[in-house]
Amino acid sequence: MGTAKPTHDDEGAQHEESALETARRQLERAASIVDVDDGTIERLNHPERVQRVSIPLKRDDGTIEVFTGYRAQHDSVRGPFKGGLRFHPGVTEEECIGLSMWMTWKCAVMDLPFGGGKGGIVVDPKELSTDEKERLTRRFAEELRDVIGPKHDIPAPDMGTGPQEMAWFMDAYSMQEGETTPGVVTGKPPVIGGSYGREESPGRSVGIIAEQAIDYYDWDVNETTVAVQGFGSVGAYAARYLDDLGATVVAVSDVDGAIFDPTGLDTQDVEDHDARPGMVSGYDAPHSITNEELLELDVDVLIPAAVGNVLTADNADDVQASMVVEGANGPTTSAADEIFQERDVPVVPDILANAGGVTVSYFEWLQDINRRQWSLERVHEELRTEMLKAWDAVREQVDERDLAWRDATYAVALSRVADAHDSRGLWP
Ligand code: GLU
Repeated sequence: MGTAKPTHDDEGAQHEESALETARRQLERAASIVDVDDGTIERLNHPERVQRVSIPLKRDDGTIEVFTGYRAQHDSVRGPFKGGLRFHPGVTEEECIGLSMWMTWKCAVMDLPFGGGKGGIVVDPKELSTDEKERLTRRFAEELRDVIGPKHDIPAPDMGTGPQEMAWFMDAYSMQEGETTPGVVTGKPPVIGGSYGREESPGRSVGIIAEQAIDYYDWDVNETTVAVQGFGSVGAYAARYLDDLGATVVAVSDVDGAIFDPTGLDTQDVEDHDARPGMVSGYDAPHSITNEELLELDVDVLIPAAVGNVLTADNADDVQASMVVEGANGPTTSAADEIFQERDVPVVPDILANAGGVTVSYFEWLQDINRRQWSLERVHEELRTEMLKAWDAVREQVDERDLAWRDATYAVALSRVADAHDSRGLWP
């Protein structure tokens, strides 16, 4: 097994592990579990391609500013690249590559006919007007036009982007191609080829997977307490799903802080961060706590659903939750993962738990190709079926090989990707 150690910079100080470092460590670890040819692992350690673009934007005051954007395309052996576009000041080339690797595994564990991609622009979208965001998104679509397409690479929403950005992106691409091409992106508004149920799907799948995990450990959901970091597009839907099942959601948070009610919060009454920023920490709850305190609450299930790298070597020993279900991409560093394993705290990984997003994206892509929309009921039903299928494949590995949840998930994903590489071989 690969050993995860905190990484150090030249002065010997500990630094935050990048998404690429985490993704590479995880691949190395997975390679020690699955019998895969070294050459295939070497190929999977590198993205097939990374496109770096400069995006000039005319600001509302008439000045020109140039932003940097990326699209990392990790592996396409199972199908077109698939994955989100984030608008965030912390976007880097390395981060996009790491996140694109996770998308390869995420698509494979769900058995979707896609490979991994991820991209974004280094920008704080909160500092742009709506018109500026529209111009930036349209120009980004144009700069990426040569490397994307419904059969080649299909972007989707991620941090800082949503249905509106996808609508602009699809329109810009379609105008240049001379035909309406809804299948070039997913996560669009339903009126232009988006799928019903896409927005809530990552959170819903976190809820479905947490439900299976609660059942696996023979806990009674009605006596299960849950804390959710990040009450946005993933966390809010996960919290509400578990609340509806009978679990007690005792704490939720946004970037400004967390609210805590040991008797349980009404998750329908708390408005999510996306609907009204600032409303979560401003909610009238018995206790206001910090995001850090939320992570250390004595609950049954902790769902980090905000940003990456929040569970680290610094706080993993203080986490009192009996189980972690990852809602965000990469919330647990390799060092924290190792601590949880030593402490026997199961961590159900992001690439399984939040994979409902890309799964409904796949449904959306099918609907776009067929020009026929599914009902919300059908989306919910098929999402549940796919999540349970993936859960069963992973659970089988946990039971048969006594693996941790992340290792079992990687075993399923990596063997599917590696088998595809073996069958196709290397060209020329
Ligand atoms: N950005 C989402 C993720 O990280 C969704 C990707 C997609 O739907 O293609 O899974």
